[in-house]
Amino acid sequence: MRIQCPFCGERDLSEFVYHGDAGVVRPDPHAADAPARFFDEVYLRSNPAGPHEELWYHGSGCRSWLRVRRNTRTHEILSVAFANAGFARMGME
Ligand SMILES: [Zn+2]
Repeated sequence: MRIQCPFCGERDLSEFVYHGDAGVVRPDPHAADAPARFFDEVYLRSNPAGPHEELWYHGSGCRSWLRVRRNTRTHEILSVAFANAGFARMGME
């Protein structure tokens, strides 16, 4: 599998580290039900068959965090973007 890094260009999978589901949101630690929410965040993950948003780190390259949309059935890379572009939209820059 090869990933098209927006900064470095197309690179081999061995240069990247998978960091999981990009859709997981860290719960508010001050919420009344915080323990249950943290349990869900850590242990209850979906296992989608098809397109999935994932976080990847280009550790052997530009060290960028990437948001990769990948088909988990075929490993086809559907899109790649810098992960902080998404955080900027959420006001977390
Ligand atoms: Zn890169």
